This record gives sequence, C-alpha cells and structure tokens, in this order.
Amino acid sequence: MIPYSTQDINEDDIRAVERTLRSGWLTQGPAIEKFEKAIAKKVGAKHAVAFNSGTAALHAAYFAAGVGKGDEVLVPAITFAATGNAALYLGATPVFADVDSTTGNMDVKDAARKITKKTKALVPVDYAGRPVDLAAFRALAKKHKLVLIEDGAQSLGASYRGKPVGSQADMTMFSFHPVKSITTGEGGVIVTDNERYCRLLKLFRSHGITRDAHFVKESEGPWHQEMHALGENYRITDIQAALGESQLKRLDSFVAKRAAAARRYPTLLKNLPIILPPPDTAAAESAWHLYPVQVPAEKRRAIFEALRAAGIGVQVHYLPVYRHPYYQKLGYKKGLCPNAEHFYAGEISIPLFPGITQKQQKFVADTLRRILTLI
Ligand SMILES: *Cc1c(COP(=O)(O)O)cnc(C)c1O
Repeated sequence: MIPYSTQDINEDDIRAVERTLRSGWLTQGPAIEKFEKAIAKKVGAKHAVAFNSGTAALHAAYFAAGVGKGDEVLVPAITFAATGNAALYLGATPVFADVDSTTGNMDVKDAARKITKKTKALVPVDYAGRPVDLAAFRALAKKHKLVLIEDGAQSLGASYRGKPVGSQADMTMFSFHPVKSITTGEGGVIVTDNERYCRLLKLFRSHGITRDAHFVKESEGPWHQEMHALGENYRITDIQAALGESQLKRLDSFVAKRAAAARRYPTLLKNLPIILPPPDTAAAESAWHLYPVQVPAEKRRAIFEALRAAGIGVQVHYLPVYRHPYYQKLGYKKGLCPNAEHFYAGEISIPLFPGITQKQQKFVADTLRRILTLI
C-alpha cells in the first residue's frame, strides 16, 4: 500500500534516540530544551514549549489564552477533531466557521460573522499545510481582542509572506505525528513570542505545578513547589525530543521534496475531471502535508474504494467536525457550513510524502485515470 503520508527515519535519527537512551535522561532532561530552542529558532519565535501530542499542545494553548467555561472558540469546520475538542476540554464552546472552497482554509468573512461577545480565541488551521491568510486573521483578532492561535499541525516548514509559519500568530501549534512535517512518534509544540503564555504553557504541561518562580506562599524550604492550576501531565520525553531535533535538521529537505512531488501531479493528472489543489503563491508557500483533490461527489466512494483496492492508501480529510456523532448530540446541525460539507463530499487525499518516487506518483495518476474512465 502506498500511504497518503508517512515518516522518513534515517540512521542519524536512530543514533540520536540511542544516545538519549544511554544518557540517563528519559524524560525531564536536557534534550527537551535543546529541541525547543531549535524549533523556536527555526520558525523565528522567542519561545517553544513541547508537549506529548499536538492535541495536548492545543489544550494548553487554549488554557494559556484564558479559554474557560462560557467562552467560544472559533475554529474551521474542516479540520481534525482536536481543534474543536480542546475547547470542550475547558468547558468552552467550539463555533464552526465555513471554509474557502478552493483551499479548504477557514473563510475570514464567515469567521467575522460568527464572532460574538463570548468569543475568546480565533483558531485558523493551515489545511493540508497551506498557510491561511494570516494578515486578515490578525486584523480580525486585533479588532475583536481575540487571541490568535494558529493550528499549524500540518504546516511546519510553510511560509507566509516570506516568513515562516510560527512567527506571526499569538501562538502556533505544530504536531509531530508521523504523517506530519517531522515526527517524534507522538508530540507537538506551541511557539510564541509571549513570555506570559510561555509560563502558562509550561505550568499546564506539568500538573499546574511550579517549582521555580511566581510563588504565592512563602517558601517552606528548598523542596517548595506550588500547584496553581489544574494542569495535566502533557510532557514530552527526552527520547522523543532527541528524535525531533534530529528530524528538524531535515525539515527543509522534507518540505522541498513534498513540494517537488506536488508540482509533478498537475502534469500527471492533466485533463481529468477532478479539481487539484491550487499551487503555491508568492504570499503562501505550503508545507504540502496533503495533496487533496476534488472528485465528483456522487462518485467519491467508488473512486476511493477502487484506489484502495489498487494498493493506494488514500484518505479523506475531513468530515466537518460538527458532523461527528458526538457533536451532533451536542446539538450542532447538518448544513451549518455548506462549503465545508461540499468540500468534504468530493475530497480524496492522494499520496504525498518526502520519499514518494516518480514511479509511485505515475502509478497513482495512471490508476486514477483508469478508474475515472470506468466509474
Ligand atoms: C494532527 C492534527 C492535530 C492533532 O495533533 P496530534 O499530534 O495528532 O495530537 C490537530 N489539528 C490538526 C489540523 C491536525 O492535523
């Protein structure tokens, strides 16, 4: 099966993990800060706080933004469920904005329409690795005094207006799941320039307990520590951080390989009755996490099944989050975001990863061409 996305692990990665295992530090050791410093530097942010998943990182970011009971968090309908779920964890309500039909990214105008007095945070997602129109979202966040949290789970290595994603929102999340730009097995990070957010993120990551500063009680001795908030154990391990730091060295090459493969598809898929994702622009260079094509909705299932049967590991990204049974039970109704539902109905993500060969891409394209003439 040719997967829709997959990791690239080399001998350097394996040696980095091995060294860590021999170092005596499995967790809470020096590899974590080293990885955080490297990520922050790479994306041009002051601080990075690493977590044991991207989902944990989002949860912590919403906490740091002050999201709580009664608040609303504005998220796009087309995203992985975690973007909405993290609001629910804190007793807040995710509000879904519709998406742009060509990019699948959150529609700025619909987001603006859905802002209320309760809206606390604005969370656009860089769908498929393509950066959202950050200038527009920044303006919207500023106007309504919202915290702008970019869900860049898919866009590490992308750039917007010549600057890396991660340097232009109040907080940006990256995921290190194996299908994403780089991997730590499971893992995630928040990057930010804001000192206060950084402190709150670290607090939340480790049970809400602080060991070093900002005590409210008088110190009772060198062992003194205080719990200030109901945090979690969301710590990443040194083993994972060492893998991440090693992977990060190849980020540019991973993204370049993904982009080169993405540029090959339009020629291979020429004259087919499908819509391809738009190419990079001067303003937005994608990390090309996915290659999402739109096929006729009424044939999507048959095409999907035929591709899988041919050994091509296609996937669908995503069912609009509010259409999951859990969200339906909460009262969200079908039809809430028409563009998102239309986008979902015809979407298939075809294989794209750093190691994909031209031969594999040709096989994917030839197979799709053959299927489309039959179905
Ligand atoms: C992968 C992903 C997440 C969650 O990250 P995990 O590391 O899998 O927890 C959140 N949002 C989006 C858009 C993602 O693609």
